[in-house]
Parts: sequence; structure tokens; C-alpha cells
Amino acid sequence: MAEKVSVLIAEEEVNARIRELAAIISKDYEGKQLHLVCVLKGGAYFMIELAKYITVPVVIDFMSVSSYGSGTTSAGRVKILKDLDEPVQGKDVLIVEDIVDSGRTLSCLKTMFESREPASLSICTLLDKPSRREVEVDVEYVGFEIPDAFVVGCGLDFDQRYRNFPYVGVVEFE
Ligand code: 5GP
Repeated sequence: MAEKVSVLIAEEEVNARIRELAAIISKDYEGKQLHLVCVLKGGAYFMIELAKYITVPVVIDFMSVSSYGSGTTSAGRVKILKDLDEPVQGKDVLIVEDIVDSGRTLSCLKTMFESREPASLSICTLLDKPSRREVEVDVEYVGFEIPDAFVVGCGLDFDQRYRNFPYVGVVEFE
């Protein structure tokens, strides 16, 4: 199936919003060390950009879970493919995601993280599709709310392509 990508959020807008979020997060975590936990692969691009502009001490860690396959609909399950390197008990943890869609992935992750007893647990996502929510999940930091469309770029892929695009684009299937 052929596809076309059109710009939804321009590179400059994405970069400016990431700096804004970093400033808000730096203020909220003043005096603390922040543990940024990223869900691979999509979240990695956003987390690295965000971390650059956070002014409190930051530690990063990565987790890999399976949610989507190569299609465009949620599997509704989360399986840990790679766990964190360090325990999060007693730490101030911020889960960094690329996008919240149905909310299933984050809801599962949140429950799993809570059982590991961090000092605090919050979520930051670059993109949010509130109209697609099936499971209620509190997201403390949202870059952009977007309409119901399949997007790529800024870490998001279609069949592993387009992650490196510096803007958020909408995929249209022809
Ligand atoms: P949820 O469990 O909230 O339905 O889905 C979360 C995951 O689905 C995201 O981490 C992302 O991998 C994938 N996803 C949801 N919407 C999109 C989208 O528009 N584009 C891409 N590339 N992935 C998406």
C-alpha cells in the first residue's frame, strides 16, 4: 500500500514545545533528581530532546514493550521485551512516551511501575489523541493534542520508517 506524509506539526513548533515542557518539568522537579524512563523505540527521540533542556539532574533508562505490530491498530497488550537497567524504587520517575492513543499501553505500564514503588510517578507524552481514549490514564505533561490520524515522525514510525522526520506528519494511504 502506497502512502503519503503531510506536515501536521512543523519542526520549529515541535522544538519550541519541547523546550516549554522541559522548563515546566524543571520547575516541578526543583531540588530533585529526575529519572526519565523511555519506552523504545518511539519515545527515545523525544526523551533525548527533552532531557537536553531539563535543568535538574537527570538519569535516563530505557524499556522496550510490544504494543503495535506493523499495522495501525493497538494490540491492547503490553509485553516487556527489555526491562530497565536500574530499579526505580524510591525515585522520582517520569515515563516519556511518544504518543498516547487508546491509553492501554500507558495504563499497563503505570500499574507495573506503581508496583515497583517509585517516590513519584508521572507521564510525559509528546502527542495525545484524546478522542481515541479507551482506558482512562492521567497524563501530566502533553506536548500536543492531535486529531484521530495515524502520525509519523519525531520517533513515530510506519513499518519502522519515518522515525527520523523532525516534524509530525500524517500518513495518508493511497
Ligand atoms: P495505545 O496503547 O495508547 O493505544 O498506543 C500507544 C502506542 O501505539 C504508541 O506508543 C505508539 O507506538 C502506537 N501508536 C498510537 N498511535 C500512533 C500513531 O498515530 N502513529 C504511530 N506511528 N504509532 C502510534
